[in-house]
Parts: sequence; structure tokens; C-alpha cells
Amino acid sequence: NKSIVFVSRPVGLPSMDNFEFREAPVQAPAEGQVVVRSIYLSVDPYMRGRMSDAKSYVEPYRLNEVISGGIVGEIVESKSDQFKPGDKVIGMLGWQLYNVVDAKLVRKVDESIAPLSAYLSVLGLTGLTAYFGLLDIGQPKAGETVVVSGAAGAVGMLVGQIAKIKGARAVGIAGTDEKCAYLVNELGFDAAVNYKTADLDKALAEACPDGVDVYFDNVGGPVSDAVMNLLNDYARIPVCGAISSYNATDADVGPRVQAKIIKTRSLMKGFVLGDYASRQQEGLVELGKWLSEGKLKYEETIIEGFDHVIDAFLKLFEGANLGKMLVKVG
Ligand code: NDP
Repeated sequence: NKSIVFVSRPVGLPSMDNFEFREAPVQAPAEGQVVVRSIYLSVDPYMRGRMSDAKSYVEPYRLNEVISGGIVGEIVESKSDQFKPGDKVIGMLGWQLYNVVDAKLVRKVDESIAPLSAYLSVLGLTGLTAYFGLLDIGQPKAGETVVVSGAAGAVGMLVGQIAKIKGARAVGIAGTDEKCAYLVNELGFDAAVNYKTADLDKALAEACPDGVDVYFDNVGGPVSDAVMNLLNDYARIPVCGAISSYNATDADVGPRVQAKIIKTRSLMKGFVLGDYASRQQEGLVELGKWLSEGKLKYEETIIEGFDHVIDAFLKLFEGANLGKMLVKVG
């Protein structure tokens, strides 16, 4: 077996030195356990938070333990009557080629409904995050303007498309001209702004002539400061992520938004997907329906090879991905 062990906490951007590849024989499963061969590993920005020991909504990764995350794999050996070899499953498993775990830690996924990778993207935590954050907190109405940052990423590209499904105007903010063109030409966004090259205030004002009613925030920092200037009265701001500050070593200091929030009587609300655990099925049914109707498209950037997992994770912070970043193993 091959595993990726977390050996030191990063300061700033993580590096290869924070991880170690280790090899050992695969253990024999005990009664009630299964052996899962990894097929797709999900790498996610939230994992950076778990590499710090600051208190958060998920436990920090422990030093000298295997990193864990969403994995889709195949049962290769089973000591449980729930699974047989060949079954495809998903679970929060270790970054390793094989996981030997209690059968209750994985659940079956059906390849005939969607490709295996989709269970880690549009039909997984990513899709549900976009769905609940936008619809429960953002509550877009027909004709309103929805702005989403990190728009060409896994969550962001779904947010814009769901906004369109609800009849709103979708404006994306992303880091390259290619990503912006993709959002408009392939996904039907009404406008997209490259935050790395544009005069952000000017470009956003042009893209949002009627102001901003919903701002789905994936990134925080200067991008979000610029959007806040355009808020309409009673705007809603689901705060999903703040990737611009995940590697920061200094406090994230910026313009204060309180006065703007008061003046516009806006609602700004942080959320984590766990808040919606009891409603997951509702989200999956709706996302599946839009997919089958062709109303929702998704994209994945798939890096090949277990040896490239850390690389793939680090590339999230460079914006190397279009849609969900995944690693295919074997
Ligand atoms: P993405 O697929 O969006 O990947 C990250 C993207 O962030 C990159 O592609 C890059 O795109 C952009 N980015 C990187 N650095 C910066 C920066 N300094 N400023 C602005 N943009 C940057 O990841 P996800 O869709 O998985 O996650 C999006 C956000 O949602 C993250 O912040 C994540 O932590 C959060 N999240 C929150 C959840 C919750 O329950 N609250 C659940 C899932 C995700 P670009 O080329 O545009 O720069």
C-alpha cells in the first residue's frame, strides 16, 4: 500500500515537505470490514484549513496520520454482507491506494446513473454546497443579479448555472480570460470578469448595471470588497469560502463592510454544508434532475496518478483547475 502522511503543519502555502509518502503491505480486513481500492481522490480548498490546528468546524488533521478526504473506489475484498468485490463506493477515506475500513464508512454509488467522478463533484459535496448556499441563503429571484466569485471552480460554476435556472442574471469572477470565456460561452453566464487583469470596480459595475442582489462568496479578500460596493438593498451574501486568505500569514485586513451592510440592510451569512445534512437527498434529486434535463453542466480537471495528489491540491491555489479538481489513481 502507499499512503500520504501529514508530517508538519504548513506556514503559508503548503509544500511537499509537509507530507510524506509511505509504503506498507495492505492489511487483511477483519470481520465487517472491506478493502477499497482508490479510483478518484478529491482535493479541496477546505483541506488547507484542516492542516492548521486552529479551532474550526472540522477537526484538524493530526500529525503523522494519513490525510483523509472524499474518495470513490472499488471494493476488492469484503468481509461484510453489505458489499461484494466490484462494488463502487464513496467515503471519507485516507489518501492511500487501498483503505481497509468498516463497511459502514462507505456507501455504494451507481455508475449507471452518473460517472464515478460526478459523485465527488456535481452529485457530491460540491453540488450540494452550491445548491444550498445559493438557494437557502441567496434566494435569487427572477431578474435579480447574482455574482459569484471563484466562478470557474467546482462550486462556483454550479452556482451561476443554478442562478440562471432560477431566472436570475449570473455574473462570474474568475482568474483567466479562458475561464471567463468558458463561463459565458459554454455555461450561459451573462458576464464574467477576470479579477487578475481587469479594473475590478469598473468591470464589475459594467457587468452589473442594476447592482448586485446576491453575492455568493468563494474567495473573500479584495475581490469581495469590490463586489460589496455594488450591493443593492436587501442583498443576500452566502459566505461559502475565503480561499484568498487560506495561506495568509498576516491578518486579512480590508475595507470594513459593516456600514454598507447596514445601509443596504443586506444579509451576510456563513454556512457549511454540514448544516444541511438532513436535506441532502432533496439537493441530490434536484441536481440530478437538472443534469438529466441538460440544464446543468459540470467540468472536472482530472490529474492522473497517486504521486500527484499533493501537486493537484496545491494547484487549487494557483487556479489551475476548471471545475472540480480530482486525482485519478491507477
Ligand atoms: P475551486 O474549484 O473553486 O478551486 C479553487 C479556485 O479558487 C481556483 O481554481 C482559483 O480560481 C480560485 N483562487 C485561488 N486562489 C485565489 C485567490 N487568492 N483569490 C481568488 N480566487 C482564488 O474550489 P471549490 O469549488 O471546491 O471551493 C470553492 C470555495 O468554496 C473554497 O473557498 C472552499 O473552501 C469553499 N467551500 C466551502 C464549503 C462549505 O461548506 N462552506 C464546501 C465546499 C467548498 P481562479 O483561477 O479564478 O483564481
